[in-house]
Amino acid sequence: MISIQTSDSLVLFTSPRLPYLIGYAILNRKVESDDTRAATRRNQIMKRKAAARMDLSGVKERSSGLLRPAQPSTPEPGYGNHFSDQGADATRSTDTVKTLKFAAGSEFLSVLRGRVDDYFSTTGRPQRDCPQMYVKTAIIFTWLATSYVMLVFLASTWWQALPLAISLGLAMAAVGFNIQHDGGHQAYSNYPLTNKLMALTLDLLGGSSYAWDRKHNSIHHTYTNITGHDEDINLGFLGRLSPHQKRLKIHRLQHFYLWALYGFMTIKWQLYDDFRDILSGRIHGHSFARPKGWDLTVFIVGKLVFFSVAFVIPMLLCEVWAVLLVYVAAAFVQGVTLSVVFQLAHCVEGADFPMPEGKTDRIENTWAVHQVETTVDFARQSRLVSWYTGGLNFQIEHHLFPRICHINYPEISKIVEKTCREFGITYMANKSFLAGVASHFRWLRRMGMSDAA
Ligand SMILES: [Zn+2]
Repeated sequence: MISIQTSDSLVLFTSPRLPYLIGYAILNRKVESDDTRAATRRNQIMKRKAAARMDLSGVKERSSGLLRPAQPSTPEPGYGNHFSDQGADATRSTDTVKTLKFAAGSEFLSVLRGRVDDYFSTTGRPQRDCPQMYVKTAIIFTWLATSYVMLVFLASTWWQALPLAISLGLAMAAVGFNIQHDGGHQAYSNYPLTNKLMALTLDLLGGSSYAWDRKHNSIHHTYTNITGHDEDINLGFLGRLSPHQKRLKIHRLQHFYLWALYGFMTIKWQLYDDFRDILSGRIHGHSFARPKGWDLTVFIVGKLVFFSVAFVIPMLLCEVWAVLLVYVAAAFVQGVTLSVVFQLAHCVEGADFPMPEGKTDRIENTWAVHQVETTVDFARQSRLVSWYTGGLNFQIEHHLFPRICHINYPEISKIVEKTCREFGITYMANKSFLAGVASHFRWLRRMGMSDAA
């Protein structure tokens, strides 16, 4: 684990503006005023809730020996996401797990936000609607479509099908990392319709964007690495990712076998998890409103389109066993890729796994410090990793600023690291992708071998 020095400016792409303008003309209608009203409403609610939490004034922001007095500007958990206030209230009413409260006050976050705002105003760079994103989207969709068409309509032998299935799996993961993830966080564009369309690419890939929004935006981004809340660190009895999970005998070998099981996560997600979550209206003890109307239609049509594309159309042309085999191969590659990139951010040495204090519902840190201390960056110098993973190698920056397009993360990371250092908050990063993989391996071995954290 190292603390990395800031890197040179990473400009991933320079691109002609034509695709950007075409994308605008086709996709967008100006609805900024709605966005602004919604943001104002969210801010008012956040302020009310922050004021209500001022009884937590005894709780201080953790830094290196510096105890900073609590401030009344505590962000709502999930700050920066489109964590719906309606959803939060619904969650509170029927959750089987406690809704947690973060410590009040965040001088760190207000200073950091000011600096990031200054960066955008002085450089004139856009937070969203970055031209590079439109070019990147075109490249990834071309990659995806080419892989699929060649696989289904042209491949006739296993040695043609296998590399194409791997290519398809990698392309699907790229759609998830880059397009769906930014769209789902409203980080792709200033235009809600564009964000919505990009987020819906998940339904095309077999996952429910509706369930993902609750699971990822509302839960994972709020309760990061908190055992019993964050579904992303819950592998059931098969794996122990957190020191607060029960250790079983089988976990002694988890640093070997989990890598293969990651490959089946996508299949489970597509064929089981979404249906379970939507039918139960519950994710890891947190309840959410089941989809109705348009959302329910998207869920059903999305699954139908996916099953048609993944199974029905190929089976009209190929043997059933060959289609199933190719589906498993592509989904396996996609699952391993998605899981490993996630695990490198939160389940490596140095990442914190905090729990509420005693039997209370209080988390020691402010929300912002909690995000930094539960997250680890990796391969910050690698343009290739940054491009392919949609900036998810800059997860600290993503967790602090989920509504800023990932194209901006390399530059923002310099500001985040500097501010963390000033406030005595540990900013962690693994130097390369492989260093992150090795750290995840060691973390799995440690969690499987010993009860100690
Ligand atoms: Zn995210």
